[in-house]
Amino acid sequence: MRNEVLVIGAGPAGIASAYYLEKAGLPYRVVERESIPASTWAGVYPSLQLNTAGFVSHLPGMRMPLRLGIFPMGKDYYGYILKYLQKHKFNIDYGVEVKRVTPEGDGWCVETTHGSDVYRAVIIASGRYGNPYIPNIPGMKQFSGRILHAHDFHAPEDFDGQRVLLVGSGPSAADIAVALGDHAANPVYLSVRSDILLARKYPYGLPNTAWQILLKPLPERWRKRLLNKLVYQGYRDAKELGLKFAPNREDRVGTSAPVRGHELVDAIRAGTIKTVDGLARFEGRCAVLENGTSLEVDTVIFGTGYRPVLNFLDFPYALDDDGWHIRIERKTYQVEGLDGLYLVGWFYRGLGPLRNVRVEAQTVIESIKHLW
Ligand SMILES: Cc1cc2nc3c(=O)[nH]c(=O)nc-3n(C[C@H](O)[C@H](O)[C@H](O)COP(=O)(O)OP(=O)(O)OC[C@H]3O[C@@H](n4cnc5c(N)ncnc54)[C@H](O)[C@@H]3O)c2cc1C
Repeated sequence: MRNEVLVIGAGPAGIASAYYLEKAGLPYRVVERESIPASTWAGVYPSLQLNTAGFVSHLPGMRMPLRLGIFPMGKDYYGYILKYLQKHKFNIDYGVEVKRVTPEGDGWCVETTHGSDVYRAVIIASGRYGNPYIPNIPGMKQFSGRILHAHDFHAPEDFDGQRVLLVGSGPSAADIAVALGDHAANPVYLSVRSDILLARKYPYGLPNTAWQILLKPLPERWRKRLLNKLVYQGYRDAKELGLKFAPNREDRVGTSAPVRGHELVDAIRAGTIKTVDGLARFEGRCAVLENGTSLEVDTVIFGTGYRPVLNFLDFPYALDDDGWHIRIERKTYQVEGLDGLYLVGWFYRGLGPLRNVRVEAQTVIESIKHLW
């Protein structure tokens, strides 16, 4: 058995884990399948902006510079990660992919593209949002245009003059539709099946994250009500547009993350984006909507979310209440009932996943200490 903790993945969660492992003086090794760290952030589209404030979304021990703004751009966040890694010389092996993890004796046998070893403790930091997800739409294979996921959208110029349909009701679909306004043929169609939850970035002049922190001492029920009123009250002029905007967080149908800011409303008003019904099927070069409308398009971009990367776990494990995530013990972040197997990068609630990974990583390393 190797006298090391193995961390799978060098995204923010794996990097935060490495920080606390170093601090605790525990031997460890991070393996990352790509040749670079935090690959999710390396290729984000130019207009991607963090939807959580920079002052809570930093890695442990090094705040993001104020000059990056309250909501830093995704590419600046990536630059910050690279600086962080220059400062901390973590033990990361790039280009090593974990293929299979199975229980073996008191530990975990980890098979990688560079051989297998048994570890007493393994931290899975392979990303809850690491697998771009595209739903299976009838006729998809026969569609003669191009289909891609938001994850593979890098530059709006690549779509100059094209007729584009965005599918999804979250920030990726909305952001990309806005970004394409000056490039693709107008209007860019935004297909929304359920609804879009609009959130203000600066309710009453303060970033929404600041309100979350300020209202924290209040009892849960009051805090939720107030936050809903402040952050998710939408925009009056959006309601006038009569689109599928959710009235507030409580009464919404959809589940995707909120779309923050007024840019989408502006673009709809300007006519560069047109929201349309949910996508039902493809026919030849056309996307056919749930209301029967047929749109001839060149490219369809799915902003339909991500699934976790857990395909290497080759043993039975309990699913959580959503039915598709692994069940985790909240106090230790250990996978339920599986000694020595932990997860970091899993919880979305509160101030956001980038802030949560600091708490999760610190808690996991505290839980692991007793094994050494
Ligand atoms: C477009 C987008 C925008 C987001 N914006 C925000 C935001 O503003 N604020 C916020 O709080 N959160 C945000 N999130 C959510 C979340 O914070 C990020 O997804 C974040 O990158 C999660 O970090 P992670 O380390 O858990 O996963 P990832 O960043 O996905 O990193 C996982 C790493 O594991 C590696 N890996 C995967 N499988 C293996 C394997 N088998 N072997 C070896 N390595 C492997 C991957 O290559 C990757 O580098 C966003 C997510 C996305 C997709």
